[in-house]
Amino acid sequence: MKTPTIKTTHDAFLKAACDELGYDEITFELLLTASREMRIELPLRKDDGSVVVYNGYRIQHHNARGPYKGGLRFHPSINAEESRGLACLMTLKTALVDIPLGGAKGGIDCDPLTLSPRELETLTRKFVQKIHREIGPSLDIPAPDVGTNAQIMAWIQDEYSKIYGYSPAVVTGKPLATGGSQGREDATGLGVSIVMEEFAKHLDESLLDKTVAIQGFGNVGKFAALALADKGMRIIGLSDVRGAITNSHGFDIQQVVQHVNKAGTVAGMEHAEPIDGAALLELDCDYLIPAALGGVIHKENVERVRARVVVEAANGPVTHAAEEVLTNRGVYVLPDILVNAGGVTVSYYEWVQNLQHMSWDLDAVRDRLRETLVTASQRVLSEVTSSQCSLRKAAYRIATERVKDALFTAGF
Ligand code: NAD
Repeated sequence: MKTPTIKTTHDAFLKAACDELGYDEITFELLLTASREMRIELPLRKDDGSVVVYNGYRIQHHNARGPYKGGLRFHPSINAEESRGLACLMTLKTALVDIPLGGAKGGIDCDPLTLSPRELETLTRKFVQKIHREIGPSLDIPAPDVGTNAQIMAWIQDEYSKIYGYSPAVVTGKPLATGGSQGREDATGLGVSIVMEEFAKHLDESLLDKTVAIQGFGNVGKFAALALADKGMRIIGLSDVRGAITNSHGFDIQQVVQHVNKAGTVAGMEHAEPIDGAALLELDCDYLIPAALGGVIHKENVERVRARVVVEAANGPVTHAAEEVLTNRGVYVLPDILVNAGGVTVSYYEWVQNLQHMSWDLDAVRDRLRETLVTASQRVLSEVTSSQCSLRKAAYRIATERVKDALFTAGF
């Protein structure tokens, strides 16, 4: 028997959960390794007549609890290894919030910003032509991720529908015009605030007037900031790829959004002190929300993190080694598989609406999102209390056990 190699932070978290649950090496291997991995050659004739060959990937991790589900990234750095770790994370995330879906990830190693709209559309359609047999409403349902958007999902839906007939449920994160769901755009950021509120209740506190710093002001960071400001939190630090700012009195987030819409960055905001991007993670605050990249809190900078609670809105922002240091210091880490699960939860609602040929209004989507995330948060917090373990361990235990149960109950 070969021992599976632990390559990513998530592999290490999964291994720890399996060890604590007393699973043997075979079970760990079955939970870690992907069911199927695809690499697809994608030659593209560019507008200038030259040909560039891209690689497309789709890693289908597990479908024991439902069809594979996960995003497509268009980014030059995407490869099979990165997709593998993220696909596994999706399997755990869907299990933790108890929606009937599995986990997958993939994408194309292109830089979408350097492609013309025609090139981007052609490349996307070519990808579907090559993988259409392996995706579908009851097989594998892609969604937007870094570098992809609702328009790209509409092209995927259209190309797939040419072969199989009208099939909106083949992708989620679509535009409303082609069967998208109300409330998908801000679902992840809103979800971050719902999970934080449940956690604060667990500490017998409220979020009102607590200070928060957020790294990343994209889809997740911006909508989390808006939702947290609504709850009366003081957002004292913000950053994006072009700059970082602080204001000890707290920002008016609506004004920041207006500034970013004009300037394209939080940098240059009025009544704000510019700071170094790295210093944002070291601000003295109650809650620190990394909402941009993976691996940003690591063993070199973890000692300088001063927040009481780190909220993983991005996927994998705290490394395994850094988490150990934080936990030993009594800093809480709210884990990504719970914190940012709002996005896939509303993707699930979009899929359900498409399968039922119905559409729900915004209140119906938000009410269900709240119910799902509150239930999952309370389940994790009760496991923390009963097992006296970290939030990550509790979340991984619950998710891992659900996937393993489905896998072994179905049989081989
Ligand atoms: P996005 O592209 O919309 O925004 C990313 C933000 O991070 C931008 O503001 C960008 O400027 C900023 N950023 C990039 N590099 C930075 C750096 N070095 N320092 C500071 N800021 C930096 O992406 P997003 O959709 O908001 O996703 C952010 C993270 O959340 C990713 O890890 C993603 O995988 C994860 N996530 C997103 C969703 C979703 O629904 N969008 C769901 C689950 C998880």
